Amino acid sequence: MSSQPSSSPRAAPVYSLEFFPPRDVAAQERLVRAAKQLLPLGADFASVTFGAGGSTRAGTLSAAEMLQRLGYDVAPHISCVGSTPDDLRSVLATYREHGIRRLVALRGDMPSGMGEMGELRYASDLVAFIRRETGDWFNIEVAAYPEMHPQGQTPEQDLDHFVRKMQAGANGAITQYFFNADAYFDLVERAAARGVTAPIVPGIMPITNFSQLARFSDMCGAEIPRWIRLRLAAFGDDRASIRAFGLDVVTALCRRLLEGGAPGLHFYTMNQAESVLGIWKALK
Ligand code: FAD
Repeated sequence: MSSQPSSSPRAAPVYSLEFFPPRDVAAQERLVRAAKQLLPLGADFASVTFGAGGSTRAGTLSAAEMLQRLGYDVAPHISCVGSTPDDLRSVLATYREHGIRRLVALRGDMPSGMGEMGELRYASDLVAFIRRETGDWFNIEVAAYPEMHPQGQTPEQDLDHFVRKMQAGANGAITQYFFNADAYFDLVERAAARGVTAPIVPGIMPITNFSQLARFSDMCGAEIPRWIRLRLAAFGDDRASIRAFGLDVVTALCRRLLEGGAPGLHFYTMNQAESVLGIWKALK
């Protein structure tokens, strides 16, 4: 298991940005603009999703190449659901040819009615496979769920599966987004008690659009606290007020996480720069 002794000096926080592959030319232009605006943050790496919203491997690779050209160290997401070992071998070879040294390794979600799970069933199988095939070439991040994965049976079993994933050879984890800092600290503490001392970086979702946030949160099992839901709902179509309130809430969350020892922040940019830049400026 990749770990650092708890007595070692605290490493500098790791900041990362997540983008998704654009679907058309206009979206491509928006992504390039956002990625350029976010460059001055000096993020340690930029990750690119795969599969979510129907994105293809070619889409993930071409977005990753564009980010590399801008100067980002990139981490494509790779998922095992519905893929054969040969598919995955070829993806890993392509990423190595592009000089990519980081991956975010996930099980992914099979769209309903889309056939078999594949030989590698869980992210822990995928991490073990990547290590078997490519040794230490890649730095591997996996997903963590402070409020439990939506298909998790119990918090204890979900933690068991997370620990297994780390033991399979992950270097660190990035969490699903959340608005309750205590859930994050609880996960970190319970994981540490099981020997996981590798960094678990909180995933941060800026608040810019209430209906979209509510829809995502229902899907991925992230709880929007009642007081935040009520305040956001009360703003109705007043997007400026939603953004201003969201900026205050998310900045306060980031501050609390960093002060409480979080090893960095991973921003779900949604391919937009403004809200992340706003949080960044407020944190400084
Ligand atoms: P796993 O760790 O395999 O866990 C999935 C479920 O199976 C959990 O309920 C777990 O408790 C259970 N489980 C694990 N191992 C076992 C076992 N041995 N036996 C029984 N049960 C087990 N999705 C995308 O499609 N594309 C993306 O690019 C993407 N990026 C993401 C990035 C981050 C940072 C996060 C947090 C999520 C991302 N997702 C993405 C969503 C993710 O694919 C889903 O949450 C998916 O349902 C689970 O993936 P996982 O890697 O966490 O799976």
